[in-house]
Amino acid sequence: MSVLIVGSTALDSIKTPKAENPRLLGGSASHAAVAASFFGPVRLVGVVGEDFPKRYLQLYKRRRIDLQALQILPGKTFHWSGEYDANMNNRRTLLTELGVFETFTPTLPSSHQNSPFVLLANIAPSLQHHVLNQMQRPKFVVADTMDLWLNIALPDLLKLLKRLDAFVLNDSEAHQLTTEDNVFAALKKIHKLGPRYVIIKKGSHGAVLSGPRGFFICPAYPLHRVMDPTGAGDSFVGGMMGYLATARGSIEDNFRRAMIYGSVVASFCCEGFGLLRTARITRGQIDHRVKELERLTRF
Ligand code: AMP
Repeated sequence: MSVLIVGSTALDSIKTPKAENPRLLGGSASHAAVAASFFGPVRLVGVVGEDFPKRYLQLYKRRRIDLQALQILPGKTFHWSGEYDANMNNRRTLLTELGVFETFTPTLPSSHQNSPFVLLANIAPSLQHHVLNQMQRPKFVVADTMDLWLNIALPDLLKLLKRLDAFVLNDSEAHQLTTEDNVFAALKKIHKLGPRYVIIKKGSHGAVLSGPRGFFICPAYPLHRVMDPTGAGDSFVGGMMGYLATARGSIEDNFRRAMIYGSVVASFCCEGFGLLRTARITRGQIDHRVKELERLTRF
């Protein structure tokens, strides 16, 4: 079954203490779509400007991502720039240039409106609503967010939570939303806002799920060297949705394993700048790391 993914399609300029890489392919939807593409068909909904490099379109195509709903408009592609400290958990946004994103209001082709799995990757909640309004009875809807929307679009986000099956956010966003320091207490509060499945991501410490079958502690794959964690959260949720959409059996039965797959794809993302590493891996390499994680956590 296919996954429809809407979110940002961006050019990312990323600085770490050791290196600087301008105008890489980035954006929440790009990372999530590439991650999901290792499992099954993906439909990308987004917008780029005329400056969007052809080689990035080719990268999407090589991953067999459906680009029918990717608009190319006159103007500039969304450009985001961020800088990491030596401790890669600390990042500062240096620049956000919206470009063609400023007026983005996607109309989905009718072929996309029946996608069973919908991933509303990080983007303004009003746009997440706009896309969801066009879907015909999707089977499973997941959304991600960021601190910016908690600050400037909380009422829209709270309305969205009531329409979701699953909500994914990181630990600092969970604290911001609930004022709880304790992850488990925060999960409980977020359930009350709507979603049956809530996942709190904790960066290099993995993620915690609270769902119909209780809690699940999902480990991060142990990496000795992180090059650039940009997009790791998007890769996690993209990989998870890709696996869920294609695995046999019920969503409930597959959910934990889907998170492990997401966690593994995110680990590859961290090993290279932007999508450089993720775009070159194979399904076999993903399966291999999943087996390693299984061995590392069995007791
Ligand atoms: P993450 O590392 O998971 O926080 O995701 C980083 C990605 O989010 C980058 O590729 C950025 O292009 C994208 N991004 C940054 N700011 C925004 C924003 N305001 N709206 C949508 N996407 C954004």
